[in-house]
Amino acid sequence: MTTDIKSIYLDNNATTRCDPRVVEEMLPFFSEQFGNPSSIHSFGSQVGAKVREARAQVAALLGAEHDSEIVFTSGGTESDNAAILSALDLAPERREIITTAVEHPAILSLCDYLKKHKDYTIHIIPVDKQGRLDVAAYKAALSDRVAIASIMYANNETGTLFPVEGLAEMAKPYGILFHTDAVQAVGKVALDLKNSDIDMLSLSGHKLHAPKGIGALYLKRGTRFRPLIRGGHQERERRAGTENTTGIIGLGKACELALSYMEHENTEVARLRDKLEQGIISQVSHAFVTGDVRNRLPNTTNIAFEYIEGEAILLFLNRMGIAASSGSACTSGSLEPSHVLRAMQIPFTAAHSATRFSLSRETTEDEIDYVISHVPAIISRLRALSPYWDGDKPRADAFQPDYA
Ligand code: PLP
Repeated sequence: MTTDIKSIYLDNNATTRCDPRVVEEMLPFFSEQFGNPSSIHSFGSQVGAKVREARAQVAALLGAEHDSEIVFTSGGTESDNAAILSALDLAPERREIITTAVEHPAILSLCDYLKKHKDYTIHIIPVDKQGRLDVAAYKAALSDRVAIASIMYANNETGTLFPVEGLAEMAKPYGILFHTDAVQAVGKVALDLKNSDIDMLSLSGHKLHAPKGIGALYLKRGTRFRPLIRGGHQERERRAGTENTTGIIGLGKACELALSYMEHENTEVARLRDKLEQGIISQVSHAFVTGDVRNRLPNTTNIAFEYIEGEAILLFLNRMGIAASSGSACTSGSLEPSHVLRAMQIPFTAAHSATRFSLSRETTEDEIDYVISHVPAIISRLRALSPYWDGDKPRADAFQPDYA
């Protein structure tokens, strides 16, 4: 059964709706309890206590050993930059960095800058066609010349999970600091950092139903750290600047909620994701799921519909009230598949059309039924317009451009 729903949000890896319970928790701290947590008077101490509570809520979601391991930042990008730059600053004799071909630009563009302007050697570890990391190449890159390995926990486009616990363990004998960008994983995957070799981990509030512009960097106890932002004594001198108290309180509440929904995320959200995927794939020919389907986030599916363009799919979906996202971006007038899909060597005609549907705990069965009932017709209409398509199959002479 489908309903006449007109606004379905399946782009939760881009950002999530701030949970109303999070907003409610934050509201008094805008105008009633507005004090600066550093102040000694009661205005400050009320807020200070709430900030401490938030730190404990974040630590609990991560399975951290101690609340002091949490440093609040402005989000995933800042945490990523702070982690890498601190590691380099602390070990100036180590001139190499290990990362992967499928990281978020928050990592990759920083590494590119460090290579071009600071002469660092960057080991970019490749992935296979399912997006799985080449662990042998990672092992080969490990040495005492490497300052930091930064390997994402879960890929934002395909949801593929990397075996970061094992990778962190492998880095340890070389004295390499291990950082993971877990922006997409936190709140979706159970974490137990007190029993892991991960030294640093980045998270971002707006991916787990907290506001935008707040995040955290986990710093394992005993991990040396040089701050990215210098100034006052906030965050135990690890991140200067008057705290974003409302954001911090919202992030704390969001982490508490995420912990309580962890089971739901990995059963119900995963079930709806699988239903969506199967519902589409079973009705549409020349469509396949990208990424490591056996080892991925419970909320994400990325489906390639061969011989059509992702942007056109998004526009047609949007007309039906469905928000998703595409693996290709319009750069300089031409549609370029994302660096993630290119690294996976997804054929050009498929990578062009890869469409990411990312669910959340707010996604309903009715919404999924509605999407399943509309996607096949959208794909048929677009294929009817495609120069590579003929009737119900690709043209025999379909042009197969390769990557530039
Ligand atoms: N890392 C990953 C994997 C992401 O998906 C994102 C956001 O899309 C970021 C980092 C950046 O996080 P923020 O938007 O909080 O700066």
